[in-house]
Amino acid sequence: MSATVVDGNAQGAALRARVAEAVRGLRARGVTPGLAVVLVGEDPASRVYVKNKSARTVEAGMRSFDHKLPADASEAEILDLVRRLNADEAVDGILVQLPLPPHIAPAKVLLAIDPAKDVDGFHPVNAGRLATGQKALVPCTPLGCVILAKSVHPSLAGMEAVVVGRSNIVGKPVAQLLLAESCTVTIAHSRTRDLPAVCRRADLLVAAVGRPEMIRGGWIKPGATVIDVGINRVPNPAAGDGKTKLVGDVAFAEAAEVAGAITPVPGGVGPMTIACLLRNTLQAACDRRSLPVPE
Ligand code: NDP
Repeated sequence: MSATVVDGNAQGAALRARVAEAVRGLRARGVTPGLAVVLVGEDPASRVYVKNKSARTVEAGMRSFDHKLPADASEAEILDLVRRLNADEAVDGILVQLPLPPHIAPAKVLLAIDPAKDVDGFHPVNAGRLATGQKALVPCTPLGCVILAKSVHPSLAGMEAVVVGRSNIVGKPVAQLLLAESCTVTIAHSRTRDLPAVCRRADLLVAAVGRPEMIRGGWIKPGATVIDVGINRVPNPAAGDGKTKLVGDVAFAEAAEVAGAITPVPGGVGPMTIACLLRNTLQAACDRRSLPVPE
């Protein structure tokens, strides 16, 4: 293996420590940031995420407000809760855990969140602000990708960046952030012709596809930086009956032979997501009170 492995666990922990330090400063001025997380239904993965988010929020010195609604909660009940959280002075950030049960329209719920408290950055106002170069709450996973990329290249300006995936929650905001960093950005997707050739152009390749190990070593430009957002659970026959493991969208072992730097899965982008959520909650708490956001 020739590539440097980018340590998301260490960088996530360092960012959380910086946020905790800033929160200590705010609390000394009588401000304790608060994050409300809304979980609807019993999705096991979502329950684990929400539990982790609450634990990390408290660790960072913030208040955590968990709201669990049953899977059959009506849209009106959820919207009513969001409105109450919008009005609650103790709440600086609101996160509605996705996916929502099928009878709930996620766009309607996300639209109901006050953009000033939209710490997931999914509200169209924040997406629009990001796209037009204004200060915004930026989606957490994309922000984590850019922080990791900048840990390898402090300036990304002029780099040829290829983002594979165009979802509203990962691909598009990553592309916007890289454009804001003055990369030359290509967004690839399922209709892209000759994806391997497009990927081989990239100095910075971001994979956000959701297909296990789809991006092969031969698709990577020698020396490129590879940020793998994918989290895919696949069978792990080597570990015994019915065991599974997590892999990314990039074939790690092959890619690490060619790339200059690469994020692993797990331990790459994943840990940055919660750290960026805490960072966004700090930003929202400061912005709402017209205080400077500590770096
Ligand atoms: P989506 O399913 O919403 O989007 C996937 C994108 O990949 C689409 O734009 C799709 O193209 C594109 N795509 C699918 N198949 C191909 C293909 N064969 N060739 C080229 N492009 C393809 O996924 P998300 O953006 O929500 O998530 C992507 C991955 O990131 C998932 O593995 C998810 O688990 C992970 N993730 C990780 C997070 C973390 O914290 N680390 C947070 C969020 C997501 P098209 O638009 O044409 O259909």
